[in-house]
Amino acid sequence: MSAPVEFGAPGGEDWAAAHPRTSWFDIRPLADGVFLIAEPGHVNNFLVVGDDRAVLLDTGLGVADIRTVAERLAGKPLSVVNSHYHFDHSGGNRLFDEIAIHRAGAEMLAQPAPEGLAEGYMAYTQRLIEEWQGYKQLDDAYFHLVTAETLIRPLPEGFDPAGYRIVPTTATTLLDDGDQIDLGGRVLEVMHTPGHSPDSICLFDERNGLLFGGDTINTGPIYAQLEDSDVEAFARSTRRLAGLGDSVDRVFVCHFMRVDNPPGLLTEIADGFERLVDGSAPFRDNADCLGYPVREACFDRFSIFVAGVNGGTRV
Ligand SMILES: [Zn+2]
Ligand SMILES: [Zn+2]
Repeated sequence: MSAPVEFGAPGGEDWAAAHPRTSWFDIRPLADGVFLIAEPGHVNNFLVVGDDRAVLLDTGLGVADIRTVAERLAGKPLSVVNSHYHFDHSGGNRLFDEIAIHRAGAEMLAQPAPEGLAEGYMAYTQRLIEEWQGYKQLDDAYFHLVTAETLIRPLPEGFDPAGYRIVPTTATTLLDDGDQIDLGGRVLEVMHTPGHSPDSICLFDERNGLLFGGDTINTGPIYAQLEDSDVEAFARSTRRLAGLGDSVDRVFVCHFMRVDNPPGLLTEIADGFERLVDGSAPFRDNADCLGYPVREACFDRFSIFVAGVNGGTRV
């Protein structure tokens, strides 16, 4: 099992000590200048640091102060890029001044969230924390897969789930496919990958072979059942990512515990979407995290949710 990673942040603070593994965020270096700032069981955010400045890819649920964490780690001017407008990736936007998103998402980012979404997600969080107890007991007895990195955290002290709000925010920069975000000695290329949502992007650090997959690439259920999801666009986007081929070494994903993946996952997911589109994928009935019925196409390392017979969710 992995030991806690000790690393000093710029400014000499000991982040392993300042942020013990039982705090809300799981903070880990993933590569030179790349940090995971995860909310385990919820969402994974990534800090990418260049010579001159840093980008925080997504701001999470907004239940804890991700700005302070990211700024101390980066030690440089910091701005936000949202992988797409969804609340679990933009919940902390309100803490920041500079926010970039693909132009297709700016309007949605600035709109109030659907009624009941914040309450629905907090109900899911409550269930997650309760079910976790039993899962952990079974793991302790039999499986021994859980590490300090994958512990489900209680909600932060002082946080009131009943007061959780999804706050609309305004983008200060609109992104397009092919844009290059130059951090000094490190460039992130914007790849517009619609499908999960119209504004979904991936960021590609070609020089270092790192792809940040947003909600386009995931290692659990991939959400293609939402009202503004588009399965055929999703298939095209995932095939395009698979086409990056040998220029990708590692793929980082925004949900679930298998954060760091080999590039072969891209081809597996593109093939999965192809089978979904041609009708040969095996399905079962399931429900998404908010309890809405979905049909689930199951593959070895991921699955794909599509709208159930009663339609998709409103997330
Ligand atoms: Zn999403
Ligand atoms: Zn998401």
